[in-house]
Amino acid sequence: MNCWQINSNGKIEKINKTELLDDVDSVKIKITRTLITEEDIALISGEGKAVSYPIIPGRMAIGQIIDLASPSEYLNKGTKVCISALRACGKCYHCLEGNEKKCFDFKIAGQNSDGFLKDFAVLKTADVFPLPQSVKETDAIYLEYIALALSVIDKLGIEKGQHVGIIGASVFGSILSQLIIYYQGVPILIDDDEEKLLPAKKSGIYYTLKVSHKIEEDVSALTGGRMISKVVYVSRSNVPVDLAFKISSAFAKVAFAGFSYPPIKAPMNLAIRKQLSCIAVTNGFGNYETAINTLANKAVDLSHYPLSLTKMEDIETNLNNMMTAFKEKRKFDSLLINMLG
Ligand SMILES: [Zn+2]
Repeated sequence: MNCWQINSNGKIEKINKTELLDDVDSVKIKITRTLITEEDIALISGEGKAVSYPIIPGRMAIGQIIDLASPSEYLNKGTKVCISALRACGKCYHCLEGNEKKCFDFKIAGQNSDGFLKDFAVLKTADVFPLPQSVKETDAIYLEYIALALSVIDKLGIEKGQHVGIIGASVFGSILSQLIIYYQGVPILIDDDEEKLLPAKKSGIYYTLKVSHKIEEDVSALTGGRMISKVVYVSRSNVPVDLAFKISSAFAKVAFAGFSYPPIKAPMNLAIRKQLSCIAVTNGFGNYETAINTLANKAVDLSHYPLSLTKMEDIETNLNNMMTAFKEKRKFDSLLINMLG
């Protein structure tokens, strides 16, 4: 199979690897679409030293089963599938206690194990999830983000009618806001870029706020002076972290959410004064089936976040451009690759 790998010197290399159906519970997948996001690029660029080189990038992909090591009740040749980017280590304290969700040594595609920038993959049956016909592939490609959003909602314990502040109107910020609406919370989505807030508004997010000198007053007005008891700071948001603490009410919960960990500085004195609880959510392990159900139930509308499909032959050029843009701190779009050609 063809793979695109990044070496520690940042060079992309096209290599050939063989993976075999060696376990009774393995399946061979033809990868059909791979999505490379800014988070993938940050990781492979060495941010936070979170990556193990050489690395095949790509945390998010979908595919089609072409072979199974043994017959399965719900998977067949030809089944379209979403793929989990995570596998619990099976060795740490939590794994051995049967609590894989709390594994502290996950194998993560595109970070410390091979990602999906390759034409085929051999996976465990437990790591692939059939894609219902009613779910669009362009939505399913975001499964990892949807599962992450569900983890955030779960960890914050969002209640009906409760305001939730989301700082960062990225695709993930929008997915999270839409799912908060689905679970009957009231998201207030905040960003310093009006252009990012626009598609969010079109996706049905009613309260969007642009950062200005009076943002705290705006939040106060929206919440009847109570400020916000559940706040999410989306990783890679351009908005200073201070804001997450400023718009929080006393004793609020603040979650940092995303797959990558850019270096951030936060005024902890403010968090201490308000007695905030700060948590971090970096994966959606265990939520994949629920994530697919929410897509089947049309809980998330991603039609305002179109991705143009690029060709395999342009992978090297596109990745190099993205890595250069990242280094130069320029904005760039996610890359959706047609792995069929
Ligand atoms: Zn573990």
